[in-house]
Amino acid sequence: MRSSARVVIVGGGMMGVGLLYHLAEEGWSDTLLIEKGELTSGSTWHAAGQCPSFIGDYTMAKVHHVGNTLYPKLESMTGQYTSWHGCGGIRLATTRAELEWFKHVADIAKHIGYGMEVIGPEEIRRINPFLDTEGVVAGAWTLDDGHVDPAGTCQAMAKAATNLGATIVKQNRVTGIRARAEGEWEVETEKGSVIAEHVVNAAGCYARRVSQMVGSDAPIWNTEHQYFITEPIPEFVERDEEIPVMRDPRASCYYRQEQVSALIGVYETEAAVGAWRDSGGLPAWESESELFEADYDRVLPHFERVMERMPIWSDVGIKSVTNGAIPHTPDDNPLLGPAGGLRNFWMCCGASIGIAQGAGCGKYLAQWIVHGDAEVNMASLDPRRFGRFANEVYTQAKAADAYVQMYALHIPGEEREAGRPARTTPLHETLRDQGCVHTEAFGWERPKWFSLDGREEELSYRRNNIFEVVAAECRGVSEGVGVIELSSFAKFDVSGPDAEAFLNRAFANRMAAKVGGIRLAHRLGENGRIQSEATITRISEDRFYVLSGSSWEVKDFDALKQAIRDDEKVTVENVTDDWGNLIVAGPRARDLLAKITSADLENSNFRWLTGREIDVAGVPCRALRVNYLGELGWELHHPMARMPELYAAIKASGSEYDAVDFGSLAVDSMRIEKCYRGIGADLTNEITPLEAGLGRFLEMEKGDFVGRESLLRIQREGIAQQLIYIEVDARDADCIGGEPVFSEGRLVGVTSSGAFGHRTGRSLALAYVESTKAAPGQKLEVEVLEERLGVTILETEPIYDPSNARLRA
Ligand SMILES: Cc1cc2nc3c(=O)[nH]c(=O)nc-3n(C[C@H](O)[C@H](O)[C@H](O)COP(=O)(O)OP(=O)(O)OC[C@H]3O[C@@H](n4cnc5c(N)ncnc54)[C@H](O)[C@@H]3O)c2cc1C
Repeated sequence: MRSSARVVIVGGGMMGVGLLYHLAEEGWSDTLLIEKGELTSGSTWHAAGQCPSFIGDYTMAKVHHVGNTLYPKLESMTGQYTSWHGCGGIRLATTRAELEWFKHVADIAKHIGYGMEVIGPEEIRRINPFLDTEGVVAGAWTLDDGHVDPAGTCQAMAKAATNLGATIVKQNRVTGIRARAEGEWEVETEKGSVIAEHVVNAAGCYARRVSQMVGSDAPIWNTEHQYFITEPIPEFVERDEEIPVMRDPRASCYYRQEQVSALIGVYETEAAVGAWRDSGGLPAWESESELFEADYDRVLPHFERVMERMPIWSDVGIKSVTNGAIPHTPDDNPLLGPAGGLRNFWMCCGASIGIAQGAGCGKYLAQWIVHGDAEVNMASLDPRRFGRFANEVYTQAKAADAYVQMYALHIPGEEREAGRPARTTPLHETLRDQGCVHTEAFGWERPKWFSLDGREEELSYRRNNIFEVVAAECRGVSEGVGVIELSSFAKFDVSGPDAEAFLNRAFANRMAAKVGGIRLAHRLGENGRIQSEATITRISEDRFYVLSGSSWEVKDFDALKQAIRDDEKVTVENVTDDWGNLIVAGPRARDLLAKITSADLENSNFRWLTGREIDVAGVPCRALRVNYLGELGWELHHPMARMPELYAAIKASGSEYDAVDFGSLAVDSMRIEKCYRGIGADLTNEITPLEAGLGRFLEMEKGDFVGRESLLRIQREGIAQQLIYIEVDARDADCIGGEPVFSEGRLVGVTSSGAFGHRTGRSLALAYVESTKAAPGQKLEVEVLEERLGVTILETEPIYDPSNARLRA
């Protein structure tokens, strides 16, 4: 075996091989894939092979589209049999809510470019004449997908990769991985050691075990899953045409034609999810091409529902059962990208629909490894979206929930309780007792809205029964004062004699020269695209307080730590858990706080965009006069344990002004009225600050910073797309992001976020469109729930208080 390779991939299933092929496509063939058994001998060989296009997540839809574009061509590319069946798929809806979801996904499909139609029962019966459509409202018909032979397809990708120079070694287990002093990895195997610049964990159900070799872990839990193949169906024997893959949420099953038999796969909604029997969800090393005993009892109720839909299958016997293992992550998206805390150790695992996803995951991870970035928004795939909170207990609970809810309808705003709470502040129960509905952000329980009359949210893609509640929270803030606990920000102390120079290099804006100055700054990649956004306060000559998005805690910590040069005297500390954060905002914020602090809060002493250390109600605070809402206000960062006393004092002082509690939905409504972009949605690794209209936060003259060269080049060449701020002629449904934007019937862009602005009474969104279509005042159209709505492009000035008079008040 070779003794070195630029990239070593551990694991030869669909995910590892998908990456091997795409690295080769990118021109990297100094690669070595090591597989402990035969290729596909983990979860891949026995999969049912479906490759659905229908998926609600925008990035995942792009991932699936890669597979459905590549797989039909693979057989002719390589000569290896793949058994691609382009029969399409139909997902059934029996409720109006599911129909709305289909419409939202159909909007996404238009931008991504795969065929999808929302069809009625009659059309469904035309395509699958055997289906009883009793109670069916609609079908989501995806025309370009189908199913493959997973083993054949994986072998074909492997062949395509080796044709381009990649190497595969089989029957060789990786037994250890060691970081070398030189910065490379030493991968120990049964057949000797290999030195590698990059190591990729593509070990499927064994991924935790491989991560543990480098002192890390992976939030993955393995579950059993079964599908059944029947005896031949006479109607299929007589027919030339194949029925599409059917996805039936009522039965929590998929079913299709397998040659002339039926194939039925079940996601049991009630049975205990059979996790791998070995300890900790880890399979034994020895298992290879392993299947488990069939368990009929678990699936019988589901079968009954399938037979109601497909009566022609009622009397037929079962020919074979496949019960195999699938890896699941807490949110059921794969882990794709760098492992937290490590350099050049990558994750390519945790895929529960890995046949459909292997090619797309491989493509985007290969881009990231080779070019330092992928062309799609990786936030929902990056393994560092999980932190230490995603421990074994949390992951198992979430994975089981992901499994049993595989076919459930997931409407935006849904709160799934499994595994929660993972991270709470000392105020959690107090707020909950006051009616707070929490949502989860990087494990934190974050206030979302307050149910003061005990109502529960009726989830919908349209404005629902909490629309007025959120409006009242916004009104409470803008007419008086409100308080929100937002401790979930990632928080870092960056200190040392070189801290300023270091941050000036790491971020595109210049750090404040004066103590107390606050700057909004963006961390860019070498390609000039946005990696993170931070609010940075100069606490003293050599100390800065850096705040970034909750889900950026691991990413920013790693990026900052890894950027420190050997000769720099800089310390980066993650202080997220140490500091709580209460935000007091609204025209009466100063009056409220003046009663509980002796600090002078007047403009002459405490200007907008400055921070100071003050005592509030006897609690030492880093008070920052900045907020995301566009109102006079302060963020009060304080020792976490002292949150209850600070909150009690704020509420007591605020009673005179009818101070309200508010949640993140109100924040979102208010931030979009200020045209503030949101990290992860409006600001992603797909775009540069130039496209996002953030030029005023770029300090090009300060000298070198990461991404500057690329920005200069892009400035010279010009940008092809840019962010627009739009008002939508919405009736009862606002944009949420992912809606296609049209100009005179032609697709010109896509929304990145949207919300109703309660203070202004306007439906607003941010979108990226072709630069030639971005002039303020122009009319465009956006498709929301398959309805074309008129759109007016606004100036990129906020529509609420454009001069920031309220913030400066
Ligand atoms: C019954 C069933 C039906 C399914 N149907 C579908 C479907 O229709 N569509 C779909 O998209 N998905 C389906 N899946 C899920 C799919 O099978 C998995 O998501 C996918 O195979 C995961 O691929 P992977 O490459 O991550 O893992 P694997 O295929 O398990 O590959 C990991 C490889 O790593 C190797 N390995 C582990 N440790 C080491 C080591 N130390 N050294 C060397 N090698 C190592 C293993 O031997 C293994 O071959 C199904 C799963 C089951 C169980």
